[in-house]
Amino acid sequence: MPAFEPLPFPGQGPAQTPSDAEPLIEVLAALARRQSEAFRGHNAVVGGSRVVHAVEEVSWIGGATMPAPACHVGVHGGDPTRLRPTRAEVTCRRCRARRQARRAGGGSAPRVVDPAQLSLDLD
Ligand SMILES: [Zn+2]
Repeated sequence: MPAFEPLPFPGQGPAQTPSDAEPLIEVLAALARRQSEAFRGHNAVVGGSRVVHAVEEVSWIGGATMPAPACHVGVHGGDPTRLRPTRAEVTCRRCRARRQARRAGGGSAPRVVDPAQLSLDLD
C-alpha cells in the first residue's frame, strides 16, 4: 500500500513535508509581529466601522501579542486582520474612558454603566 502523500494546492509546487514546512506557530508569530509593527503609534478601526479605537497589545496564540481595541470590542470572527490602523483621534467612548482612567492614575478602567441597566440585589 503506498504511503499517504498530501496533494499540493493548485498552482503550487510539490507539497511540503512536515520537516520542511514552516510550523504554524511561526507563521502566526510573524503575523503578530507584522500587525504590532503596523499599529505602533496608531489607533484602529474595525472593518468598515467609523468608530476609532485606541490600541493595546493583548495576549494571542503561542505567547505572542497582537494589537486589539483597548475596549476589547470584538473583531468580527476573531480575524485580527479586520483591524485597520488609522491616525484619526479615538472616538470610542469606552476607549476614551480607559485612557482617562489611566491618566488619572487609576489602575483599571472604570466600568461603563448603561444608565438604563438595572442593578441586581445580591444581598
Ligand atoms: Zn474602543
